[in-house]
Amino acid sequence: MAAAMMAGSPAAAQRAHRAQHRPAHARNIILFLGDAGGLPTISAAGILAHDRPQALFLQSMPHLGLSDTSSSNRWVTDSAAGMTAIMTGRKTNNSMVSVVPDGSGGGVKPVKTLLEYAEAHGLSTGVVTNMPIWDATPAACFAHVASRKDKGDIFRQMLAPRFGNGVDILIGKGRADAEAAFAARQTSPEHAFAAAGYRFGNDPALVGQHGRVAVLRDADFSPVSTVEATVRQLDRNPKGYFLMVEWDMHTPNPLKGLRHAVEMDDLIRRISAVAGKDTLILFTADHSFGLRMSGGDRASPLARQVEAAAAQPGATVASNPVISVTDDHTGEEVIATASGPGAERLHGFFPNTRLFEIMMAAFGWTEDR
Ligand SMILES: [Zn+2]
Repeated sequence: MAAAMMAGSPAAAQRAHRAQHRPAHARNIILFLGDAGGLPTISAAGILAHDRPQALFLQSMPHLGLSDTSSSNRWVTDSAAGMTAIMTGRKTNNSMVSVVPDGSGGGVKPVKTLLEYAEAHGLSTGVVTNMPIWDATPAACFAHVASRKDKGDIFRQMLAPRFGNGVDILIGKGRADAEAAFAARQTSPEHAFAAAGYRFGNDPALVGQHGRVAVLRDADFSPVSTVEATVRQLDRNPKGYFLMVEWDMHTPNPLKGLRHAVEMDDLIRRISAVAGKDTLILFTADHSFGLRMSGGDRASPLARQVEAAAAQPGATVASNPVISVTDDHTGEEVIATASGPGAERLHGFFPNTRLFEIMMAAFGWTEDR
């Protein structure tokens, strides 16, 4: 009875119409990874920016769930094991990047990443981060190392892909690290990236001109224009694309970290508007972080109250009565939110490895076994 009444309503007709025209699979996936962007950070960032609750764009996304981030050997993960789970569907030990122990006592074996599946299927791929491009989160998309500190091997693997022709657009920090890593192999990043078919430089405006691009710099860049240009360029591939965008939200300084969260939210809002209905947009964090909102008066801006408390004699970041931070990863579930084809699979509590399965299913792919 209730169903019959609902079926006759204009809203139900509209839903049925949309369902008919919704693509079965995602053509593209954009994974937004808020590094250390746990729920306490997201929630406080939204209030800081808008002075009302739940005003962030990602708090309006239609599907959500809660992701367990524990690693194989620790309740509290690092970014390496956290991103490995999301990119490969396998939990591993902290500090391991897209490898798992092979059972031989100390040995490891690589696990194929979602980005590698995308390359193998002929899609275009991109990795954009405001962290060093060799850092654990971006590296887990394209490299396989037992220790996240193995910068030299991560740079080597960046240009020696196991599937397809490797990441098509690479944007991040760590220019000086790249100079050192390639110098150790008697070459330079300019030569090595050019030989691998990239336009190489430090200006994000290189993206969108033509072909494969690697932008490595040590300074910040504007996320919206850079990611928009990346999406436009990747979208030229008729088969679609996979793009991972990491924005770091770790910080001992709460206001700075929370502004990064708002910056990423603005980015997701903007990119969701331009990405097209055949794009699965997924936001999650690799782990949560020791930030707590313990006070605050609704009558005045929250940021001003945090700053006033911080200016009191003897104040510390950890004891701030409005927003306090202990500079540590924490073990509670993180939120994942999504829109687009396949987003409806995101619900309830689940292990972080489910995010890999959701992305594979959205593309309509099955795992190699
Ligand atoms: Zn992290």
